[in-house]
Amino acid sequence: MIHEQVRREVAEAARQMVLRGLAHGTSGNVSARIGRDFFAVTPTGTDHASLAVADIVVLDAAGRIVDGRLAPTSEVPMHLGVYAARPDVGAIVHTHSDYATTFSILREPIRAAHYLLAFAGPSVPCAEYATYGTPRLAANAVAALAGSRATLLANHGVLAVGPDLRMALTVAESVEVVAGLYYRARLLGVPHILDDAEMARVAELFRTYGQPAEGVEAAEGAGASEGAEGAGASGDGRVPESGAPVPDP
Ligand SMILES: [Zn+2]
Repeated sequence: MIHEQVRREVAEAARQMVLRGLAHGTSGNVSARIGRDFFAVTPTGTDHASLAVADIVVLDAAGRIVDGRLAPTSEVPMHLGVYAARPDVGAIVHTHSDYATTFSILREPIRAAHYLLAFAGPSVPCAEYATYGTPRLAANAVAALAGSRATLLANHGVLAVGPDLRMALTVAESVEVVAGLYYRARLLGVPHILDDAEMARVAELFRTYGQPAEGVEAAEGAGASEGAEGAGASGDGRVPESGAPVPDP
């Protein structure tokens, strides 16, 4: 099997997406860049909790299947659109996680109610609505993402990116955790929001402190780094084997 290692990592990231409560059943999808012009993506309509390595589909930059027996995710245009626009992106995690998707229905950004959002940016914007799987959704997502690591997709879900799978998963997870906290705080009163200067300070701490992040909890106390910077062009996007403890959203 070609590209077995990166396909294994994509399957594991998809499993983690379910284990961490970011996806249910067949919703959401995951991909990773292989070199510059090839991509490993999850298949469409399969349970992410039990993907085999051979279920992961290898595509070229035009979306043609290079290897794989299953049809790729219906969101191939969005994944390939982001990779084309963002050479720094090595992996993509797309979820319909509950709290973040709730804000996508309001078409409202997730604001910096907690410093963990700095994995994604000072805030997470919401892309304009388009039908799932369409080139229009891909264009809207790329525009909203700009230089940051996450955007909401209106009435749909979350798009999270990173240099590798581990960071893309951490971004998706931190967006959901903060969306849950922000939601709760809004039920009780008017949340205090961290300003852009503070979020820039935290982002810098995440970049320069500690070991590569194993997940959201790694940012507690010691902070976290951006992981293997520039490793996105290979299969280096290692994902923790299983069940790293996750803050209860
Ligand atoms: Zn979706």
